[in-house]
Amino acid sequence: MRLVFLGPPGAGKGTQSELLKRRLGVPQLSTGDMLRGAVRAASPVGLKAKAIMDAGQLVSDDVVIGIVAERIEEADAGQGFILDGFPRTVAQAEALEELLAERALRLDGVLELEVNEAALVSRIEKRVEETRAVGGVVRADDQPETLKARLDAYKVQTSPVSTYYDQRGLLYRVNGMLPIDTVTGSIEEQLAAMRAVHQQELR
Ligand code: ADP
Repeated sequence: MRLVFLGPPGAGKGTQSELLKRRLGVPQLSTGDMLRGAVRAASPVGLKAKAIMDAGQLVSDDVVIGIVAERIEEADAGQGFILDGFPRTVAQAEALEELLAERALRLDGVLELEVNEAALVSRIEKRVEETRAVGGVVRADDQPETLKARLDAYKVQTSPVSTYYDQRGLLYRVNGMLPIDTVTGSIEEQLAAMRAVHQQELR
C-alpha cells in the first residue's frame, strides 16, 4: 500500500506509523527524519535546512521533493510506503502525484489524524519533559516559540493539503484525541475502507 499520513506536530503520527509500518510491512518514509539525518551528516541539503528547521519553518519544496524522489526509488519502497511529514504543501502534493504517475503508481489513500490545538501543545510539552527525564536531547524545534511556528506553518501551508486530497476522494479521517489503541483501531477501519474502494475499482 502507498499511504500518506497527515497530521499536525504532536498528533501521534510517530506512535501510529510505527504500528502501521509493522502491520503493513512497508517502510515509513519520514521527511523530518531524512532532513535531520542530512543535518547530522552536514550534507549540502542539511546545511541549507538546519536554520529553517530550527525556526520551525518549512524547508523549500524543491529540496524536499528531491529527497522524496530519491527515497521512493530505493528497493524497500517497491512494495509500498507510508509517507510521514510529506506532502506538507499543495505544491508537494502535486509533485508527488507526478512522481507516482511517471512510475504508473498512485496513492491508495491519505490518513489524517485530527487533534485539537490545545492537545498538541500539551502533548509536545510532555514529550519534552519525558525526553529530559531520561537525559535525552530535546529537539531544537520542540521549544515553545518554535512549536508555535510549526503549528502556524501547519495551519497555513499544510491544511490545504487535506482539502486537496478530500477533493480527490482520497482522504480518510481519524480522530486522534482518543486513546492510542482506539486510534489504532480507527486506522484499521479506514484501511479496510480504502481496500474496499480498491476492490470495487478492480471489478
Ligand atoms: P513534526 O514533528 O512537526 O511532524 P517533522 O519531524 O515531520 O516534524 O519535521 C521537522 C521539520 O522538518 C519541519 O518543521 C520542517 O522544517 C522540516 N520538514 C519536514 N518535512 C518537510 C516537508 N515535507 N516540507 C518542508 N519542510 C519539511
